[in-house]
Amino acid sequence: MIEIRNLSKTYKQHQALSSINLQISTGIFGLLGPNGAGKSTLMRIMATLMKPSGGDVLIDSLSINTHPEKVRKMIGYLPQHFHVYPQLTPIEILDYVGVMKGVTNKKERREQVSHWLHEVNLTSKANEKMKTFSHGMKQRVGIAQAFMGDPKLIILDEPTVGLDPEERLRLRNLLSKEGLNKSILLSTHVVTDIESSCFEVGVLQKGTLILDATVDQLRERACGKVWEGTVPSGYLENLAEDTILCTEHRDKTIHARVLAEEKPFHGAKMLEPTLEDGYLALLGGSTL
Ligand code: ADP
Ligand code: MG
Repeated sequence: MIEIRNLSKTYKQHQALSSINLQISTGIFGLLGPNGAGKSTLMRIMATLMKPSGGDVLIDSLSINTHPEKVRKMIGYLPQHFHVYPQLTPIEILDYVGVMKGVTNKKERREQVSHWLHEVNLTSKANEKMKTFSHGMKQRVGIAQAFMGDPKLIILDEPTVGLDPEERLRLRNLLSKEGLNKSILLSTHVVTDIESSCFEVGVLQKGTLILDATVDQLRERACGKVWEGTVPSGYLENLAEDTILCTEHRDKTIHARVLAEEKPFHGAKMLEPTLEDGYLALLGGSTL
C-alpha cells in the first residue's frame, strides 16, 4: 500500500505541488495532467530523488523522509528523460540496476535481466551499445530496468512517449500482467494511455489533485455535455462557454463535436462521452 500524505513541493517561489493526498493499492494507477501540472515532481519525490517541502510518502509504512535508502530498493523508476551512458549495453544497465536494488546473487540477477529484456522484446539487442538504439528502444530498456529487483512500486513517468503503436500495445499488455501483483503508477498527458490500461486515475492541474476516481467516473464528467451536429452560420465565431472538440467539413457545411453545458445549437444531438471528453470537461477545456 502506498500512501501520499499532505505532500507539497515549492521550487523557490513556485508551488509545484499543493498538499497532495492519495492512496495507491495493487494495480495500475494513471496520473493524468497537462504539461507543468506537477506529475514529474510528484514522481521524483516518490522515487526519493528529491525531498518534499512538506508531507510524506509511505511505501508499506516506510517513509521516504526517514528511510529513503530502504524505500529506494522497493521502487522501480523510469524518469521522463531516461539518459544512460551510450557505451553501455542493455545487459550492463539492467545488471547494474539489479545490484542497486539488492539482487546480490549473480545467477538470479542474470535470470532477471534476461526475463525483463525478453518482456520488452530486446533479447536480440542485449549486447549492443545503447548509442546505436532508437528512442523507442532506449525507452524499452528504461521500462525493463524499472522492473529489476521485483519492486513493490513501479513508477513510470510518461513511458509511452516515443513508442510506436506496436510497442505501446506490448507495454499495455506487460503492465496489465504486472499490475495483478504490484502497484504501478503511470503518468501521461495522453488520455488514451489511461483508457486502455488503468482502472483508477488521478488528475493533477497546477499542482493540485483535482480528481481521484475510476476511469468510468472521469468519463462521466462529460455526461450530457457532448453534442454533435451541423453548425449554423455564426456559431463558431461567437463561442462563449462551449468548447469545440472537433470539426469536419462536409460539402459546404461544418459538422462539429462540442462540449457544452446545454444544447449548443438547433439540431445538435447528445452523444455518449469518451474519456477524453470527461477529462476536458473536468479541466474546463483549458488545455485546448
Ligand atoms: P509535469 O511533469 O506535469 O509536466 P513538472 O513536475 O515537470 O510537471 O513541473 C511542475 C512545475 O514545476 C512546472 O511549472 C515546472 O516549470 C516547475 N518545475 C519543475 N522542475 C523545476 C525545477 N527544478 N526548478 C524550478 N521549477 C521547476
Ligand atoms: Mg513531466
